[in-house]
Amino acid sequence: MSQTKGRVFSGARPTGRQHLGNYLGAIRNYVAMQDSYECIYCIVDLHALTTLENTGMLREWTYEMALDWLAAGMDPDRGTIIFVQSHVPQVTELHTILSMVTPLGWLTRLPTFKEKVRQQPDNVNYGLVGYPVLMASDIALYKADTVPVGVDQLPHLEFTREIVRRFNAHFGDILIEPQAKHTEFTKVLGTDGQQKMSKSLNNHIEIAATPDEITQRVMGMVTDPARRYRNDPGHPEVCNVYSLHTFFSPGDYERIEHECRSAEIGCVQCKRLFAQHLSDYFAPFRERRAALAENPDHVWDLLTDGARRASAIASETIAQVKDAVGLP
Ligand code: SF4
Repeated sequence: MSQTKGRVFSGARPTGRQHLGNYLGAIRNYVAMQDSYECIYCIVDLHALTTLENTGMLREWTYEMALDWLAAGMDPDRGTIIFVQSHVPQVTELHTILSMVTPLGWLTRLPTFKEKVRQQPDNVNYGLVGYPVLMASDIALYKADTVPVGVDQLPHLEFTREIVRRFNAHFGDILIEPQAKHTEFTKVLGTDGQQKMSKSLNNHIEIAATPDEITQRVMGMVTDPARRYRNDPGHPEVCNVYSLHTFFSPGDYERIEHECRSAEIGCVQCKRLFAQHLSDYFAPFRERRAALAENPDHVWDLLTDGARRASAIASETIAQVKDAVGLP
């Protein structure tokens, strides 16, 4: 992989089958960025260990997530590296070295750390404190100059930049200070219409769902709460079905908005239409996924090959870092 274009790195924790929130918030951006960047996408399983009590599902979740990523168009044949974090152990070496230049106070003051302590007071482990250093190591190890971020993730990237600056100030310009690529990370509400779509809240719709499963989930979606009777005029601006129509029903959503406001269309009919469009949109994806799933070994081989290519970059960086630090 020659670094002629910008190099993007992004990682996501293994969460198994992906849902619409993952798709609209991240995956479609990952796919699109392949047009303009060298892309390195990582399933960050080591990060998952900081909060998971039960690690027994990690392997399956990694596999299912990789299936979704590949079927969605994240494509090693286009030069993209897709791999599993723990398959390239150099990241733990860089993590150790970068942790030596990271003041502890920086880490314990981070709002994300404080939030985790609130969420899991019985499991405030050492890895949790060092989480941002591991994240910085991921980015720095692969010499990524670009990281796609939404507004709420900017402080994380800034933290990586600070660690890199500090390392470089001590040891010379070895690591690349990554720049943010501001990306519209759409926040998708769940079927409850209230909270962010999330597997743990069971308010999600999987992108690999069958048409029947899609219909079942969509028919259970909460709509405009003020629309109690069929003849009540609706308020599409507060309805999650409508906001998803704007993405999945590009030719219809303006008409739907009008017909909702004038009560010409009922919620049941509107949801059926949405379920149909959603199912149609992901039909080619389901086909590609089914074909990939016929040969799980091939999927693992693709990840292994991704790790091999990632490792080539990582080895070079680690050698430079050790040399700069003065390790014999
Ligand atoms: S008609 Fe459609 S857009 Fe309007 S409230 Fe019902 S589900 Fe939402």
